[in-house]
Amino acid sequence: MAEPSARSRARGCLLGGAVGDALGAPVEFVRHAQIVERYGPGGPGEIGEAYGVHGAVTDDTQMTLWTAEGCLRAYHRGATKGIVTIPGVVLRAYLRWLDTQEAGPHDGPAFWQTGKSWLFDVPELHARRAPGTTCLRALEVRRAKQPFHNESKGCGGVMRMAPVGLLTDKTDHAFRIGCDLAELTHGHVTGYVAAGAFAVAICHLREGATIAAAVDEAAAAAARVTGGGETVMALDRARQLAASDAGEVEAVHALGTVTPGQGPGWVAEEALAVAALCALRHPTDVERALRMAVTHDGDSDSTGSICGNLMGAALGVEAIPERWRTEVELVDVILQIADDLHDARTVTMNWFSGPRGPGWYDRYPPS
Ligand SMILES: [Mg+2]
Repeated sequence: MAEPSARSRARGCLLGGAVGDALGAPVEFVRHAQIVERYGPGGPGEIGEAYGVHGAVTDDTQMTLWTAEGCLRAYHRGATKGIVTIPGVVLRAYLRWLDTQEAGPHDGPAFWQTGKSWLFDVPELHARRAPGTTCLRALEVRRAKQPFHNESKGCGGVMRMAPVGLLTDKTDHAFRIGCDLAELTHGHVTGYVAAGAFAVAICHLREGATIAAAVDEAAAAAARVTGGGETVMALDRARQLAASDAGEVEAVHALGTVTPGQGPGWVAEEALAVAALCALRHPTDVERALRMAVTHDGDSDSTGSICGNLMGAALGVEAIPERWRTEVELVDVILQIADDLHDARTVTMNWFSGPRGPGWYDRYPPS
């Protein structure tokens, strides 16, 4: 197979994530035994229905898009005004996400609705798809400008961080920004270090690294910081299991140690490790990697989503089975955002119009 272009990797990363999310959505809260009963031992092979919608994505994809929107607005602000606090701008994007998850409009003007937000006008993004309570609560606190603290290391930070690795070409920046953006909602060090490590992996894949090399780099980035130990251990375990002769579901379940009996992936380092394990087992086969990533007792849509981000960034959008690519929800929005991330990284900024003319400026007002 020919090497995918950088644009194809960006598209594959976001669309692969959505496909993994959609594949896992009907079985997020379903145990392995019941998944096998329903679909056979290989798990779901077709995009199905969740939340009453064929091909529905969940909060993982929705929040990934908001991360991208926030990062692009931050990028635009930095490029045109010369000063930006990336977490501050992205927080506003997450507060817009919070608005989409709540019924009815707010009273009065809100600081996070500055400028037009094209994502906010996408009706599907207002659907509630089992949003993580940690993200909801954390953002409510931040919206009220109250002191924020929690000790959560749920996977809601890591699962939304792929765009960071697509936008920046410096891996140390990807790590730092990934950590900072996850820490907006997840206060436990592993909750954000795993997110930074994931952004590093995507950054390397975007430059053509193999899955194995990208996972090594992610673990190395986590190993360099205080508190990175749990992430490093989980990724080490994933690498060992990938190379072992353990069966697929046995290997995945072996990574679930934090919430016994519930399967893996509900916490950040496990979600990343499951995704890495499945990608390492099937580095050239998106279908097999994603079916493995959703067929277990744990948090199937998040592990599917993260694995899809990795596989798509590694192999490009063409490697995703066409029947899945066309059936997933929001495909036009996802490809637009992926192209915008690609353009922002590769095309010289035009002060007046951004990389792609006036439409780009309108999509990402610099605030
Ligand atoms: Mg979800």
